[in-house]
Amino acid sequence: MARYLDNGRQLATFAANLNDRLKMIETTPLFDIHQTQTSRLDQVDFNALEFGKVFSDHMFVMEYEGGAWQRGKIEPYGPFTMSPASMVFHYGQAIFEGMKAFRQDNGQVSLFRPGMNIARFNKSAVRMCMPEVPEDIFMEALAALVKLDASWVPDGPSTSLYIRPFMIATDSYVGVRASKKYAFSIFTCPVGAYYKQPVKVKVEKYFTRATPGGTGFAKAAGNYAGSLYPLEKARAEGFDQLLWTDAIEHKYIEESGTMNAMFVLNDVLISPETSDTILDGVTRDTVLKLAEDLGFKVEIRRFSVEELHAGLESGLLTEAFGVGTAATLKPMAEIGLDGIRYQMTDAKEWKIAPRLMREFDGIRRGKIEDRFSWNIPV
Ligand SMILES: *Cc1c(COP(=O)(O)O)cnc(C)c1O
Repeated sequence: MARYLDNGRQLATFAANLNDRLKMIETTPLFDIHQTQTSRLDQVDFNALEFGKVFSDHMFVMEYEGGAWQRGKIEPYGPFTMSPASMVFHYGQAIFEGMKAFRQDNGQVSLFRPGMNIARFNKSAVRMCMPEVPEDIFMEALAALVKLDASWVPDGPSTSLYIRPFMIATDSYVGVRASKKYAFSIFTCPVGAYYKQPVKVKVEKYFTRATPGGTGFAKAAGNYAGSLYPLEKARAEGFDQLLWTDAIEHKYIEESGTMNAMFVLNDVLISPETSDTILDGVTRDTVLKLAEDLGFKVEIRRFSVEELHAGLESGLLTEAFGVGTAATLKPMAEIGLDGIRYQMTDAKEWKIAPRLMREFDGIRRGKIEDRFSWNIPV
């Protein structure tokens, strides 16, 4: 089970063997491959990529029934046909992941820390009573899909191939219980930046995203559905995103949309510690490791609204940013707290976040030595 879970030696070994594995896939694959006859690649303007609107030629699909995963396939990207009674529509068993592939400076395409996403996907699956996806099939499906659609991986600054694995309950049944049938699928999209500007966030002290004992640590679709109403209210006030606080007291900062939160207070980089209400982000882990490696002072602990307030008032809170795969590392330009809108200084002048972003992006794109073996070439 632990084969691809850590991103150290085991994944590096896997990567070294990947080309052999991919050759094997062509002869004895774990799934079938039906290639499209009509690529849509020439319809895409790679110089004006937005986020999440264009989908590559192929997708992976694998179904679960009778207590086992059936043989999967890579096929042309296209619609699913489903019963209106499919349980996902009614009881919401749906989970997903978000990861990226990058074109390296030497032209090679690499996945960034895919083992972390596979492990988290299966953690989400367990919480939502869904079957885990065997890691080797998951990894090979990712590699084969990205390799097949390698010409969809853009190479411009701020661009990448976003990869969306997901699983839904497909049993046709009315009545509340865990589904007995599921579909697991992966599609990809060439993307540009998720947020074009630094974000304006509002500290949310009434609505909650996640509760202790709930599903906040899982990438479960319902978590996002529940966050839309408070988000819309904040957007109407001119904010881009919420900065969630804990559900019990609204005294501690949790995270922001699909980003984990980080702050620089008195020159110390602080990130709220993950729990069952804070998603354990791959970008968070990456950025914290890089910060320690670069010699910044790092504290992983609860961070109170009180401390945030004092830091904003005194000016000792010099940087605030979100980190996530889709958004990468995004400075907060404005923080709304109890009706006051605090303006942060220009992020270009910050000491820590831009340095971390350069390192993070440089490693993913093969411009800076990958000293942690995070890139897995396909
Ligand atoms: C996906 C996500 C993140 C960021 O996780 P990454 O692994 O860095 O992409 C943070 N918070 C929430 C709620 C998320 O869904």
